[in-house]
Amino acid sequence: MSTSSPPAASSLPPTRYRIAPHDPHAHLFEVSVTVAHPDATGQAFTLPTWIPGSYLVREFARHFVAVRAECDGRAVAIAKTRKDGWQAAPCDGPLTVTALVYAFDLSVRTAYLDANRGYFNGTAVFMCPVGREDAPTVVDIVAPAGATGWQVATTLPLDGAKLNGFGTYAATDYDELIDHPVEMGVLATTSFTAGGVPHDIAIAGRQHADLPRLARDFTQICQWQIDFFGGAPFSRYLFQVLALPDGYGGLEHRSSTSLICRRDELPRSGDDDISDDYLKLLGLASHEYFHAWNVKRIKPLVFMRYDLTQENYTRQLWAFEGITSYYDDLALLRCGLIDAPRYLEQLARAITLVQRGPGRMTQSVADSSFDAWIKFYRSDENTPNAVVSYYAKGSLVACLLDLELRRDGASSLDALMRTLWQRFGQPGIGVPEDGIQKLASELAGRDLSGFFERYVEGVDELPLSAMLSDVGVDMTLRPTAGAKDRGGKPAAGVVDRCTLGVRIGGDLKLANVFRDGVAARAGLSAGDVLVAIDSIKATSDAVAAVLTRGTPGSVVRVHAFRRDELITADITLAAAPCDTCVLTLAPSPSANALARRQAWLGA
Ligand code: ZN
Repeated sequence: MSTSSPPAASSLPPTRYRIAPHDPHAHLFEVSVTVAHPDATGQAFTLPTWIPGSYLVREFARHFVAVRAECDGRAVAIAKTRKDGWQAAPCDGPLTVTALVYAFDLSVRTAYLDANRGYFNGTAVFMCPVGREDAPTVVDIVAPAGATGWQVATTLPLDGAKLNGFGTYAATDYDELIDHPVEMGVLATTSFTAGGVPHDIAIAGRQHADLPRLARDFTQICQWQIDFFGGAPFSRYLFQVLALPDGYGGLEHRSSTSLICRRDELPRSGDDDISDDYLKLLGLASHEYFHAWNVKRIKPLVFMRYDLTQENYTRQLWAFEGITSYYDDLALLRCGLIDAPRYLEQLARAITLVQRGPGRMTQSVADSSFDAWIKFYRSDENTPNAVVSYYAKGSLVACLLDLELRRDGASSLDALMRTLWQRFGQPGIGVPEDGIQKLASELAGRDLSGFFERYVEGVDELPLSAMLSDVGVDMTLRPTAGAKDRGGKPAAGVVDRCTLGVRIGGDLKLANVFRDGVAARAGLSAGDVLVAIDSIKATSDAVAAVLTRGTPGSVVRVHAFRRDELITADITLAAAPCDTCVLTLAPSPSANALARRQAWLGA
């Protein structure tokens, strides 16, 4: 939120909020804000256009369906001044503005309400009185009429409400108010302690999770991360989990996280292994928890005081998301939940993901960070050609930087993260745009600007194979063995001999056509729907047969519909690219490589 030198916080009376389910079937919350002493020239209000952690202007005000103001029982005129702003007529106060807010987004970013569950982020529901950003806030969270057994799960500080109850909560200022999402409903809960700090897990949605197992495994992850940074920066922590038939997402907050997972990703009683599904959830929880340090407290300088009215640009998301993505799975290894081969399988999948996107040769991770607002968060059919993920490739750059720092035993990414915490996170200092590069050079004891030019600001291929070999890990790249092959393991079937240079959706529609690929050269386009391949009706199996049995250089005739027009393309098959990565522990590494592997991955 932008501000004009507000008065000292202590001199400001609290801004009071009230949020109540108004009509759950219409998905409407009623939200009000009361300012005791409004601006004498007329109080202005604003609503964030984006939520920190998700770098897209989402214009939450579009879900405000009715706004009215009153003072002392009398209506006060209030007018819209911009897409996210309102202005009330002058009055003596207290001034109360009330809105109905439509809440029907099943994501971690906005708000949701029905008869079974309520959820909101403050950014989507709480107007901020302009000039009162630093005032303390109080919020009454009201139970829906007739609800039985509903609980509230939030880390908003209690101000009269009982833990997990409806009632009054408080926050020191608007920035804190909007950083504690609130979940309400009939919740499955469990608790544990890590680093001496109470942690809670609250699950919404129908599920049959093995809660003791979940608590046990989360404890291991949290304890390792707390030990890694040398202490927890919060006095309690909450994992809010929404279990759905399908879905995935997470958003980090200062002392909590909102997660969405597939019901099947939760552990079931009787299971004692870690399935790929459960591993995905553990990785997500680990990721968001690591953010409690990296991005919630160690922050880019520009995030030290968010401007929630517009985009906030930084070239550093590769570090705040990429390094976090690197440590999310690494923490599972280091805390003992998975072993080194399982960790390498995950790392190989990240390499595969990046390797399959030609966008890595077009856009750097620094550019991807800067343009997140218009590119990464607004993907379309051309995204694989034009955009690289600052998450996936950022995690590989983080891995490479870790190996680079470990090269002569001088340092490590662990040391870099701890130093960032001590110099920036703990004292509350923002990280300048060149801060990580400078610190990496300092810790390495040599100039690493070339590394950053090539792999962060540039689009050079990452020399992972050579660097991994130096630490006793063998990297091989092979062709894919079909649509379900994410890499990480030896091929489970016949690998493709050829490629069409496309990604095909389940409906046989071309989801992506890779630039300079053979389909693109033959004139096919994203959106074309295959109807026949090699004079056979197009099906997934028919396409797979051409790719596994065809010969590079041979020509295959494809019929497709572009909109409702039939088109024909003769595609000269290309050899399938070796874009699928497998990593294994080298069977007999040199003593030096073995020592470095143990320093990196453990014994
Ligand atoms: Zn993240």
